[in-house]
Amino acid sequence: MSDLAIVAEWIRDAENVVAFTGAGISTPSGIPDFRSEDSGLWQDVDPQRVASIFGFRREPQAFFDWVRPLTELTMQAKPNPAHDTLVKLEQAGKLTAVITQNIDMLHGKAGNTVVHELHGHMRTATCISCFEQVLAEPIIKQVLEDGKVPHCKCGGVLKPDVILFGEQLPYQVLLDSKKAARAADLIIVIGSSLEVAPASEIPLIAKRNGAKLVIINNEPTIMDRFADKVLLGDAAIVLPEIIACLEASA
Ligand code: NAD
Repeated sequence: MSDLAIVAEWIRDAENVVAFTGAGISTPSGIPDFRSEDSGLWQDVDPQRVASIFGFRREPQAFFDWVRPLTELTMQAKPNPAHDTLVKLEQAGKLTAVITQNIDMLHGKAGNTVVHELHGHMRTATCISCFEQVLAEPIIKQVLEDGKVPHCKCGGVLKPDVILFGEQLPYQVLLDSKKAARAADLIIVIGSSLEVAPASEIPLIAKRNGAKLVIINNEPTIMDRFADKVLLGDAAIVLPEIIACLEASA
């Protein structure tokens, strides 16, 4: 039996499938990941300067200059067949939650209803001085137009509600993600290098609680040795192939 057919069988037999996704599920939607050599996102930049909370407080313009092209691509992006497959699995009563490290909101746009966004999202922004939260859309529009640092009514700087290096993960989202992982009998990691902790611990929590672990990625990851099956390839091709196997054996 092929590896695809085996994973399809595991999905058919499972009652509670959870997906854990990273930037790689969204590269077919045109949003680069951080680690692939050709993404360019870390080229000529110091992550601590442009993408940490400490850097943001000191020099917010550096963050907005760096994030502007990524934001533009994110706003234009549409879900791809990998996202759509997760919607199909939810509608089939198999998938109970998507836990994502992505900030691009594509799982929600695709139609998944239970999405735990561990690293935040771009729907809202918060003032780093008075902590008022506002809708992010007008701010994003303004930043894309003029590239200037957005400010709150109080004069403080507005930060999109994405988690930067040095920030805590959103507490309730982390709790909900761990709960979903513990309840899973199959967890499928899709498009993540699994190098960003503590998010990367979630698949191992599921595994320790008896779930099978499947990793779908286009290159090996540091956690492949814990996986019950590793499927190397493009998530936007591999996931629809698994669905095709499921449908063929129905
Ligand atoms: P990562 O960049 O560390 O790893 C992505 C992995 O996906 C890589 O191993 C890469 O080889 C693989 N990959 C790329 N395209 C693929 C495809 N089509 N099919 C299968 N695999 C593919 O990403 P990460 O593990 O999510 O961690 C990086 C951090 O960057 C996260 O915290 C995330 O918040 C953030 N990020 C998010 C976005 C987004 O929201 N779309 C984009 C870039 C970075």
